[in-house]
Amino acid sequence: MNSRVFTCILCPNGCEIEVCHEDGRVLETEGNKCKKGQQYVEQELTDPRRTIASSVRIKGSFLPLCSVRLTKPVPKQAIFSVMEEINKAELTAPVRIGEIVIRNVCGLESDVIVTKNMERS
Ligand code: SF4
Repeated sequence: MNSRVFTCILCPNGCEIEVCHEDGRVLETEGNKCKKGQQYVEQELTDPRRTIASSVRIKGSFLPLCSVRLTKPVPKQAIFSVMEEINKAELTAPVRIGEIVIRNVCGLESDVIVTKNMERS
């Protein structure tokens, strides 16, 4: 049996959760104020995922960068590959919130979408 401490990032409470686990199975948790904390540590132990908020170069607008985000979290170990794809992308103004920049990025069933309307300069 192993134990580990996680900080739950699902809400501003940021509970410090101590978890006893074995073979990826959670045996006991302490410190979580709600059940979501247990689900969070189970996910972290078996398949940790992260979302990304970043920016993409844009041509023809007042600003050089446009903010983007993922539509779904991706496996933590894929973050570097996803960032490489985001860094390669380039938009042309105008763009609208929700517009897809990269569909199914790295085959991970998550899209990179625009989070800011940007007009032509
Ligand atoms: S365990 Fe529940 S209350 Fe605590 S940070 Fe996570 S979601 Fe929030």
